[in-house]
Amino acid sequence: MSRPIPDAAFQEFVDAVGEANVSRDPGILETYTYMNGLAQGASGTLWQTRPVCVILPSSTEEVKKIVRICGKHRLKFKAHSTAWWMYALATFPDCVILDMRRMKRLEINERDMFAITESYATAGETQVEAMKKGLTPHLVGAGPNASNLASATSMQGTGGTSVRTSMNERNVLAVEWVTPTGEVLKLGSLNTPGAGWFCGDGPGPSLRGMMRGATGCNGANGVFTRAALKLYPWYGPAYQCGGSPPFFDSKEIPNSYLRYVVWDNRDNEVEALYRLGEAEIIDYNNRWAAGAFTSAMSTSNAEYLEMVAQGEYKDRFGEGYWTFFMHPPSQRALEYRVKAFETIMQETHGEIIDPMIFGKRSYEIALQNAVRAIWIAKSAYMPTSANTGSLPMAYETVDQCFKHALPISLDAKQEFASQDKILNDGRDNCYACIDEDAHYIHIEHACLVEMWEPKNEPMGAALKGMIGSLAKGIGPLYASMPASFRDQVIYRKYIARIRHMLDPLRSAHSPEDTFMLLLPETELGEPIPEEEK
Ligand SMILES: Cc1cc2nc3c(=O)[nH]c(=O)nc-3n(C[C@H](O)[C@H](O)[C@H](O)COP(=O)(O)OP(=O)(O)OC[C@H]3O[C@@H](n4cnc5c(N)ncnc54)[C@H](O)[C@@H]3O)c2cc1C
Repeated sequence: MSRPIPDAAFQEFVDAVGEANVSRDPGILETYTYMNGLAQGASGTLWQTRPVCVILPSSTEEVKKIVRICGKHRLKFKAHSTAWWMYALATFPDCVILDMRRMKRLEINERDMFAITESYATAGETQVEAMKKGLTPHLVGAGPNASNLASATSMQGTGGTSVRTSMNERNVLAVEWVTPTGEVLKLGSLNTPGAGWFCGDGPGPSLRGMMRGATGCNGANGVFTRAALKLYPWYGPAYQCGGSPPFFDSKEIPNSYLRYVVWDNRDNEVEALYRLGEAEIIDYNNRWAAGAFTSAMSTSNAEYLEMVAQGEYKDRFGEGYWTFFMHPPSQRALEYRVKAFETIMQETHGEIIDPMIFGKRSYEIALQNAVRAIWIAKSAYMPTSANTGSLPMAYETVDQCFKHALPISLDAKQEFASQDKILNDGRDNCYACIDEDAHYIHIEHACLVEMWEPKNEPMGAALKGMIGSLAKGIGPLYASMPASFRDQVIYRKYIARIRHMLDPLRSAHSPEDTFMLLLPETELGEPIPEEEK
């Protein structure tokens, strides 16, 4: 249970940011207590708690003051950007939320191809501004609505454009960071006076790994106030559309190629993915199956159920399908790429499908996914509105993910869906995308639950998928390799130690850290014996 915020602390917050930007009104606090985000189905109110106060800072200086006041009054704090992810809420008592919505400045550096972004400038806004200058940012699968700074500094960071625009982990350049003790830390070139924001590595060792580990620290190591993120070329006019959501009416993108593909067996699919990566011809890629496609195609739950009953999408996409988009700098390059693509498809028995196959809606789904990263979120919530988490969330070679991680999640899902504990959305609903033209892939498998359904059992399938993957040495939660349970403990203990070092007062404390540090110390830092690798 939280204690009420001390009046003295509240007054100091008011003095720091102005009365209009602080609230402890129970009605306001309630709106910061719940969210319908990914894994909310699994978490429920298990760890979410009502914050004691919400503050809207407008500058790094104000963030610094807030963090110091929290330390002085032994309050905890959590920053959030657009709050699409459940860890953006208070996950422990006596917590102050820093809602970063007033910090939304964005600056595009056209010549050196990067954007300096504050917390609340979304990936979509960044893209709109960047496209005016022939550039585009990376967009994570969460969609254009989410903060690009958050995924770069504090979250994982992959998405369908990762094949061309890398992961946000690797796009982050110089960073301004208010640590939990209220110090302003500047990472990379920003730390060299007059050098600017262009490089993530300044003099001395790089601190980016410490800042985020493999998958980000979910707000548990302070507040990131500004970051420079890489931009990539966008060839041709800025994306434009008319119409109304959710389908809009996109203008055709000149000199581009957009197709769906299905394979008749997994070996061929895997082989094709390796070869597409090696050919370096793809600008967007995304795997889904009938469940996600149906939720994207429908505009209401009634329509979703009608489509499921018709069964058309299940027949076509039930075993998974891919969206591929190519948008090279010239007509000649496009001709080359299409030829290479068609050759790979022919040799791996991939069936190339016109995205208009189910009419304009199916075309818009493909195009807006490819360019704006729209739709994934819709498929994560329709038709139940809650998602239990995506088992096992592996980040591994294509073989490991498709031949081992995917079957584990399919089995777990089938077991729980057959007992109506999660929605039966057609078995395979796995989302995947390859990164950086490489042999690596990110794969996750959403399970939908209806929280009011008496039989719902949100955690079971997710846990079963995780345990299954650990048993096979495939790291869950985008774990770094090697990924046995023991290795995971070692990695997470290091992260916990770094966070405790940065945060002696435990102001931004993550409960996970306490748990990790309670586990036995003995293996920390010891090399893994050869026979256990
Ligand atoms: C349906 C769905 C799909 C998703 N798909 C992907 C995906 O494909 N790839 C991916 O990488 N992520 C994904 N995410 C996770 C996450 O939402 C994204 O990484 C997103 O870009 C984060 O931005 P946000 O505005 O939602 O951040 P928030 O939800 O506001 O915050 C996310 C985390 O970062 C912390 N944080 C935010 N801002 C700051 C700050 N200024 N300083 C310190 N900590 C901060 C918060 O405390 C929180 O723990 C998905 C989430 C959902 C709900």
